[in-house]
Amino acid sequence: MDKVARLRERAKELLEKQEVVGVLGYRASSRPGISQVAFITRPEEVDRLIFDSACSQNLANYLLKVKDKGKVAVVARGCDSRSIVVLLQEKQIEREKVYILGVGCEGVVVQGEKSVACRSCRYPNPVIYDEMVGEEVHFEPETVEDEFDRLTPDEWWEVLSAEVARCIRCYACRQVCPNCYCPVCFVDASMPALVGKTHNVSDNIVFHIMRALHMAGRCVECGACHRACPMGIDLMRFNRQVAKIVRERFGLVAGAKPDEMPALTIFKPDDPQEFIR
Ligand code: SF4
Ligand code: SF4
Repeated sequence: MDKVARLRERAKELLEKQEVVGVLGYRASSRPGISQVAFITRPEEVDRLIFDSACSQNLANYLLKVKDKGKVAVVARGCDSRSIVVLLQEKQIEREKVYILGVGCEGVVVQGEKSVACRSCRYPNPVIYDEMVGEEVHFEPETVEDEFDRLTPDEWWEVLSAEVARCIRCYACRQVCPNCYCPVCFVDASMPALVGKTHNVSDNIVFHIMRALHMAGRCVECGACHRACPMGIDLMRFNRQVAKIVRERFGLVAGAKPDEMPALTIFKPDDPQEFIR
């Protein structure tokens, strides 16, 4: 039985036995190559579920929107599962209220090409699940050039400024991110207003730097923000660098180990930096 047939079969069983109130997955859209998020609540609807390279959204984001309905089953690849781990670590969801249908992922394809984030993915399989649907997937990730080490701070600042100058502050990147869930985002706060509302370069830089800081140790490099950006801003370029710094300084990878806490929530008494003592 192929992966999608098995997924539909298990979704039907879970709904019929009322083990879950709904199944969060993907369905086809009217546009080829683009999927939609589906929340299936009736057994007769499970044939709408699909899973293929067009499934680009990180479903952990949508889990936050349905978590109050009861126990929910969710389709999770490596990146989705790592976001689920981060949400569990941050106590945004309860483990007993989520049934994880794990799937191996070959990568999201956008306009005929494997998505930038997926090319260097080291977690194609879920790191946490209740059952696997289909076989695990294995491939050699691409090595991405490490520009952070090659560029001076001034050069890196130029790269950042040039890239985010095109940002129109639509916040699509924030909306699709499972780990951007603050009830009031700092960019929307008005008392005090921390960031100007216009999209000039300086306000854009503040937004992107603040977001990078918020995401440090939490971003799972799923690439959903990168794919959502209407201006084609290379957000994975920044996400990768932040993840690299966290990896090197803290020895941690966001959401990779369910029993580990996120980098910025723990400390070691023998931390080499003075401020901790
Ligand atoms: S999605 Fe792109 S244009 Fe919109 S706020 Fe994010 S970076 Fe800026
Ligand atoms: S910042 Fe982007 S890549 Fe990181 S978890 Fe959020 S959507 Fe995924």
